[in-house]
Amino acid sequence: MVIAKKKFGQNFLVDHNVINQIISEIKFDPSKTFLEIGPGKGALTRELIKKINPLTLIEIDADMINILKQINSKNLEIIQIDVLKLDEHFFNKFNIVIGNLPYYISSEIIFKLLPIKQITHMYFMFQREVADRLIAQIGTKDNSILTNLVNFYFDTEKLIDVNPNAFEPAPKVKSSFIKLTRHNKYNEFVYEQYKKIVKASFKFKRKNLKNNLKNILSEKDFDSLQLDPTSRAEDLSVEDFLKIVNYVFIDDKKNSY
Ligand code: SAM
Repeated sequence: MVIAKKKFGQNFLVDHNVINQIISEIKFDPSKTFLEIGPGKGALTRELIKKINPLTLIEIDADMINILKQINSKNLEIIQIDVLKLDEHFFNKFNIVIGNLPYYISSEIIFKLLPIKQITHMYFMFQREVADRLIAQIGTKDNSILTNLVNFYFDTEKLIDVNPNAFEPAPKVKSSFIKLTRHNKYNEFVYEQYKKIVKASFKFKRKNLKNNLKNILSEKDFDSLQLDPTSRAEDLSVEDFLKIVNYVFIDDKKNSY
């Protein structure tokens, strides 16, 4: 028996109802290319491979690789590597990415994959509080930097709440399975500037926009933008942040920052 390794964040899905629910939520399309990150012992892989042809797997742990090699399928490509070491050239071969990853690397992976246009859908298990931030509504405390950076590229949807006892060993936190769908609504070339404005706006959570953006926008600028300077970053939408980006960087009304 293979013991779960803490250093690789191993909590294996063992609840078959949850596994079946996850599989039933994934949209399978034979014209798309699929990648699973962190397949572990193959709880999802064994079901995915019945519907996907071919399927590429990335797994860091040699013990897991040995187990995955026992899956009887010619359609599996198994790669032993640390996913964090891979760059865009690897990922842009895929359209759909699925993963029940260690929670401490899931945000990093998401940020890495956001700008890769070929990826149209991502399905990931997240720690519940991260999931809540991904799907947060405007004006709620969960509306955050993560919410606005991810929503620049993707629509987000919570598919399933998953309790700790669905995993072996059970993690300390609750989880949710989230679907991200690329929407192509905004001009990707302003993303770096957008990121700067979002990060500055959320710099001090308790401070209002006027304070957080004091080096960027004057009272008069807030008037021109028709934004309330006493509101907080969590009250703004992606479009509001983009309005600031356009005003500061593109319309040339401002040239500082
Ligand atoms: N997907 C499996 C499941 O649902 O049962 C395993 C989930 S477990 C939470 C996370 C998996 O990601 C483990 O198999 C672990 O070895 C793998 N992993 C951890 N860090 C990784 C990394 N940097 N690159 C690739 N795989 C990694």
